[in-house]
Amino acid sequence: MSARARILALTEDSGRQAQPTLQRILREALKLLVVGVDLNPTRIRIEPLPENDRALHAIHANQWKAHPPTRDTVILLGAIATRLMEPGGFVVFHFDTDRVWSKRESSENRQKFEAIIRNGVRRVLQGEGAPPVNPRTRPSLTATQVEAALNRLLILSPCYSIESWLYQATNELHPLCQGRHASQEHEQLIAEWAIDRTRLDEVHQPKVMMEKCVADHHNETLAQSFPAEDVWLAERSFHESVERLKACTALVEALSHPAS
Ligand SMILES: [Zn+2]
Repeated sequence: MSARARILALTEDSGRQAQPTLQRILREALKLLVVGVDLNPTRIRIEPLPENDRALHAIHANQWKAHPPTRDTVILLGAIATRLMEPGGFVVFHFDTDRVWSKRESSENRQKFEAIIRNGVRRVLQGEGAPPVNPRTRPSLTATQVEAALNRLLILSPCYSIESWLYQATNELHPLCQGRHASQEHEQLIAEWAIDRTRLDEVHQPKVMMEKCVADHHNETLAQSFPAEDVWLAERSFHESVERLKACTALVEALSHPAS
C-alpha cells in the first residue's frame, strides 16, 4: 500500500530533539483533525529532510529570513516545491512567531514566511527562479494547480515559541523545574499555566524565563506529554495552527481515507 500522505516536516530549531519534538506535536495536531485517524507510518509518512541537505542550513541558521534569499534558501524553496508537486505531498514548516499571542499581527517571522518562503515557492512552482534539482520535475502547472500545491504548504507557528506549547505539559514540567531549583515563583507560574491554558501564549520568551531550570533541555520529553486537546480548546496559537491544517482539504482527505 502506498502512503496517503508524505509530509516533509521542517523546523527552524536545530539540535537532536528538534525533529522528534516537531513530529510528536504534529501527530497530536493531526489527531485533532480527524477523529480516530490511523497515523500508521505506512499510510501517513512524516519525514525530515535528509541529513546534511543544504536546505537544512537555510532553516537552522535563520537564513530563510534573509532577503534576497541565500543560495541555501533557494535550495530549500526547491525542496519544498518538489515535495508539494508529488502525489500526497505536504510540507509542514515550524517557525516561532517570536511574539506573544496578542502581538502576533506584528510578527516579522510570519510576514517573512509569506514574503520569502511562500512567494518563493510560488515562483518555483510557476517555473521561475532556479530549476529543481531534477530537471524532469520542472513544473508546468496551471495557476490553479500552483495555488492547490501552495495550500499544502502548512505552518506551525507558536506564540511565543515552541516552548510555549511544550511547557503546557505542566505535570511533567513541574518536577523538571523543581528538580533543578526550589523556585516558588516558577511553582506558582506552572500552577497558573495548568489552570488557564491561554496564559502561556502571553509569556514573552518562555525559554529565557525558564533558562536556569528547564530551558529547552527536555523538549522531546515534554512533547510526549503535550495535552493537545486542552491546549487546542484554549483557542490560542496551537488552535490557530490546527485550524490552518484543518482548512487544508487535501490533508483532511488523505487522513480520512479508511485503512485498506
Ligand atoms: Zn524552574
